[in-house]
Amino acid sequence: MKPIVIIAELESGTPHPASFEAVSFARALARLEPGPLRIIAFGADVRNAALEIAAKTGVDVSALENEHAAGYTAGLWKEALATSIAPLDPRFVVVPHTARGYDFAPGLAVRLGAGCVTAVEALQMDDGAIGLTRSAFGGKALMHIVPPEGCTVLTVLPGAFPPEEAAPAAPGAVTILRNNARDARSRALGRTASEVETASLNEAEVIVAAGRGIGKKENLALIRALAALFPRSAVAGSRAVCDAGWLEYARQVGVTGKTVSPRLYIACGISGTAQHVAGMKNAQTIIAINTDPGAPIFNIAHYGVAEDLTRFIPLFIEACGKVYKV
Ligand SMILES: Cc1cc2nc3c(=O)[nH]c(=O)nc-3n(C[C@H](O)[C@H](O)[C@H](O)COP(=O)(O)OP(=O)(O)OC[C@H]3O[C@@H](n4cnc5c(N)ncnc54)[C@H](O)[C@@H]3O)c2cc1C
Repeated sequence: MKPIVIIAELESGTPHPASFEAVSFARALARLEPGPLRIIAFGADVRNAALEIAAKTGVDVSALENEHAAGYTAGLWKEALATSIAPLDPRFVVVPHTARGYDFAPGLAVRLGAGCVTAVEALQMDDGAIGLTRSAFGGKALMHIVPPEGCTVLTVLPGAFPPEEAAPAAPGAVTILRNNARDARSRALGRTASEVETASLNEAEVIVAAGRGIGKKENLALIRALAALFPRSAVAGSRAVCDAGWLEYARQVGVTGKTVSPRLYIACGISGTAQHVAGMKNAQTIIAINTDPGAPIFNIAHYGVAEDLTRFIPLFIEACGKVYKV
């Protein structure tokens, strides 16, 4: 039985929630193709995080310490992890599909001579073989992939495999290992906190989110006017809107943005790809406004408006007794 290796994601020295979801996914994998689990935590000072992960999961953790790993570079992560993982000869390497995870995972697979499947969101048996599901074409289609023989590196979409709630019978063992890998090509110069104030996104009871369907930056005024109808509200966006420079990245909701759970989430002109939905599916009530009645956002919306948002929002604002001025 070959092992299943899980790479823990750490944020400021503490375990990221996606690490526990990756363990949950690895256990589901092991139920289909048995193999012992081992977690690797990599960083400059990972002892405490490794102890916490071992205590919460009951899985053995290798804490891989490297003085150059205080800042992240993909080159260092790939080099350090490849040299530590290769001797274990694993069947699967499971990586959280975070901004960092999907940055280094494909290169790690290349170094290991392994296959790579990213953004896995479901797992099943397909004709006696493990089958992995990921979305494609912006969430409009699902791909079923049977991983090749040998080692496969998988990145797991946050939110797809909830962490286990039951405490383990006993904590896993923690082994501290020194690692001397270096990244000859790049070095991290530090992290700069965003100047945009985003606490409002986490505190907001109502979030009105703009997607590419707003058409142009000027139409954010519509989104802001809709948000202004509600007290304790905030404006957010999909990555398409942030990539276009219409909203700051700090307001992006999704797998590489914020995870929010307001009482009401109004998705305006958002198609509903898995990457966006991962960040907002826990909202108590979801309303979607989209011209395409087949848009995937309607699969998770509690209420849907199949209408042009530039027509619907002004009418809605007027119906609420307010005036929307262009
Ligand atoms: C590794 C990775 C990570 C990612 N992380 C994120 C993330 O964190 N967050 C995120 O959001 N995305 C993320 N993405 C991108 C994601 O896959 C989608 O590309 C993105 O979410 C699409 O944004 P959208 O829904 O605004 O645009 P589109 O998919 O283009 O959808 C626009 C929608 O607007 C509708 N529309 C058009 N005109 C109108 C109108 N007048 N009125 C109403 N509706 C209209 C259309 O029918 C369509 O459904 C990630 C992608 C990758 C590969």
